[in-house]
Amino acid sequence: MSRDILAFYSAFDPFEPWRDALAPHLPDVEILRAEDVTEPERVRFTLVWKPPAGFFARFPNLAMVINLGAGVDQLVARDDLPDVPVTRLSDPEMGRMMAGFVLFSVLRHAREIPHFEQAQRESRWSYRHPKRAADICVAVLGLGELGRLAAEEVARQGFDTHGWATRPKDIAGVVSHHGPEALRPLLARADIVVCMLPLTPGTRGMIDAGLLAAFKPGAAFVNVSRGEIVDEPALVGALESGRIGSATLDVFAAEPLPETSPLWQMPRVLVTPHLASVAIPESAAAQIAANIRAITEGAPVANRVDPARGY
Ligand code: NDP
Repeated sequence: MSRDILAFYSAFDPFEPWRDALAPHLPDVEILRAEDVTEPERVRFTLVWKPPAGFFARFPNLAMVINLGAGVDQLVARDDLPDVPVTRLSDPEMGRMMAGFVLFSVLRHAREIPHFEQAQRESRWSYRHPKRAADICVAVLGLGELGRLAAEEVARQGFDTHGWATRPKDIAGVVSHHGPEALRPLLARADIVVCMLPLTPGTRGMIDAGLLAAFKPGAAFVNVSRGEIVDEPALVGALESGRIGSATLDVFAAEPLPETSPLWQMPRVLVTPHLASVAIPESAAAQIAANIRAITEGAPVANRVDPARGY
């Protein structure tokens, strides 16, 4: 009997590391680049990152779409998504990498590193007495798979840590807030705001001029989820006016960030090229394989995305 096929597509990630990490877990599945598939009816699973329009139509017997990453906004926004379970990666190393990046960003602002970098450029010894972590309020917007881990990491450092989601959460050391009404009061008290929301119709453009005006004056802003959640010109304006004191930005409305963006030249802004966290084949393979086995056995899959909800 011919084996089921997992078809891989990504213009960004190399195929071989994924094939080599998955193969030992899936002896009954043939793992091929999508362009090398000659019998599309055998394709039961796709592992994909931003496949081209019409990609799925080739595969009439698909049983599951696996998004090669945590952010599914591009996938669920398509109008050609097949009616099969859609799952995302849940990779412990990806979570750790993201939590580490968020902690770095929070510490960058909490320890006023942008101020010292500026002073250094001017050969100026400019002492500022460090604040206690407990006196610094950090708000993490989005407490999903990655957001929760990041909030826990921030809380472990002793910050006054708050989180915001659609539903209440029980996370050790993190004060839970939820729902639209809770957002502005939280922003008004946070010294550092970390955006970890998924990009959905409900969050696109959410952090606009009006919401930025609700931030505590001089607050720091960290965005590690999606640039389109923020009205970027409004953020530039808030940084210029000092309403937002500093920022660490890993994601942008347009990527690569255009050379003409004023964000590049702002001394208190750190720009990084969308690398807060990446999927790692070795640590993600077991979870992908477990989901493929589950589908094959007719059992429920884990890390399922709700395309209607958008995450
Ligand atoms: P999840 O999809 O697991 O969780 C999303 C969280 O956001 C949930 O807590 C959800 O609330 C909350 N949320 C969604 N919509 C709203 C809303 N309208 N109002 C309030 N809360 C809302 O996301 P992850 O934590 O796994 O990842 C977050 C994002 O990080 C990804 O979507 C992706 O875009 C980005 N990312 C960025 C990377 C990078 O390198 N920069 C790498 C990987 C991911 P509830 O729990 O109540 O449903």
